[in-house]
Amino acid sequence: MRHCTRSARVRFRETLTRDAERLAFDEKKKARDLRHRLDLHDETKAKLESDLDDKVAAGARLDTYQPLIDDTPQCPRCRIWRARKEPMVDHGTQDQNLFKCHECGYLAFSCLEEPRHR
Ligand SMILES: [Zn+2]
Repeated sequence: MRHCTRSARVRFRETLTRDAERLAFDEKKKARDLRHRLDLHDETKAKLESDLDDKVAAGARLDTYQPLIDDTPQCPRCRIWRARKEPMVDHGTQDQNLFKCHECGYLAFSCLEEPRHR
């Protein structure tokens, strides 16, 4: 800088400033992109945590599931998925015992009678 004229120094300062501005602009843009990605990540994480809580609670409902209440079969799907106690209705024929949940359509065959021994 010793041999530069005053105007050359001014131009050089402006050049350095413009380069710094361009570099800073690029970094600010990258920061905005990262912030946006982080926000999306937070939303995804919150959704996964919520889903996880739901699944843990659903799994734990097995502990309070009663397959039969007063000989009335109870729908396992409604209990585990929706925390509801729904009785299943007999849809069977003479040959088979079939029970159905009218809330969700869950079907189950029962073998209420002991199998016949030959
Ligand atoms: Zn059901």
